[in-house]
Amino acid sequence: MKKYKIILICLVLVLLSTCLYAYAGIVGPVAAHPKYSVTVYAGPSTSYSSLYSVNTYNTVYVLEKEGSYYYIEYGNKRGYVPSGSLEPASSSGFSDVPYVSYNYKSAKIIEGVSAYYGGSSNYDEIGSVDTNEKVSLLKNDNDYAYIEYTVSSTRKKKRGYVPCDNVIKTNIIVNNQNNEAYHCTIKTNGNYLDSRYINAAEKLTKMVFNDKYLNNANYNYDYYLFGEYDSTYGYHEGIDVNDRKYGTEIYSLVTGDVVNNPGGSYGMIFIYDDSDNVTYIYEHCINIKVKKDDKVYAGKTIIAEEGDKGAPGNCHVHVQVVPGKRTYWENWMTGLDKHLKSLDPTYYIEKNYNNYSFK
Ligand SMILES: [Zn+2]
Repeated sequence: MKKYKIILICLVLVLLSTCLYAYAGIVGPVAAHPKYSVTVYAGPSTSYSSLYSVNTYNTVYVLEKEGSYYYIEYGNKRGYVPSGSLEPASSSGFSDVPYVSYNYKSAKIIEGVSAYYGGSSNYDEIGSVDTNEKVSLLKNDNDYAYIEYTVSSTRKKKRGYVPCDNVIKTNIIVNNQNNEAYHCTIKTNGNYLDSRYINAAEKLTKMVFNDKYLNNANYNYDYYLFGEYDSTYGYHEGIDVNDRKYGTEIYSLVTGDVVNNPGGSYGMIFIYDDSDNVTYIYEHCINIKVKKDDKVYAGKTIIAEEGDKGAPGNCHVHVQVVPGKRTYWENWMTGLDKHLKSLDPTYYIEKNYNNYSFK
């Protein structure tokens, strides 16, 4: 009898949690009508291509808000309309519409491909993008990448979804001398669009720079991910983040101890976290502000500034997680430890993010 009671309680619990989950997930497209015949653009401003128009008697579904535009779905098409041009179909209004703002990541089209209004070929085609076209990567949506590109004939911008396999992410390198940005293509096997690593890199960027610059509309950053393979440098053992500026203050992403005398020709800092028994290695740092045996605190201690020590002309912060307590950067660089066993940083970044104090 007791057994049945337990089974019954379990069933009720499962049902309850399913209901709660379903309830929490009810934020969906919001139905609306145009107040007048409205032009739909391929991005959130009139500098994008105009696509089609929708009349007052039609229903559109608002997916998200970006700037002063709503991103809508209409049949097999999508696009952007000024937020003031829509009237909500129900009394709850537009309060459920999520607000987004995208970080642009440099990318390139490997092979010419059709772009669609949405992340599947069920949507209408919005255009095509040529081989080697430089584009911006906004986000990935399962197997599709949401990109922004310029239509060569009109010089107007468009946004569309293309299959991920056709996109290569590139890394931006800032030239120290004249401060000009140029693109450096890195070989890929498609792993660039692995959302787990991109999410980790975004969190790491926020932590390393303590979210300082991320609220600035002009802020832009890029990263080079763990496990990426480059024909010159081989397997990448950490995650590179940058805001393309020399001298940006770097915060400790973890509470721990500085275990070496920082510096050397690679501008390295080793910070040991005894709760996980791992060492965090930062590279390319300049103006180092900590020394051996200093205690550092996540989100509180400024450890150095962003630079290009050991990577001339390539200003960025390299962060790597290795097991145990690593003490001497000399050992690391002579190759005794270097390629032994860097850990997948995604787990540690996620964990540190939750214990980090943003200012
Ligand atoms: Zn690196």
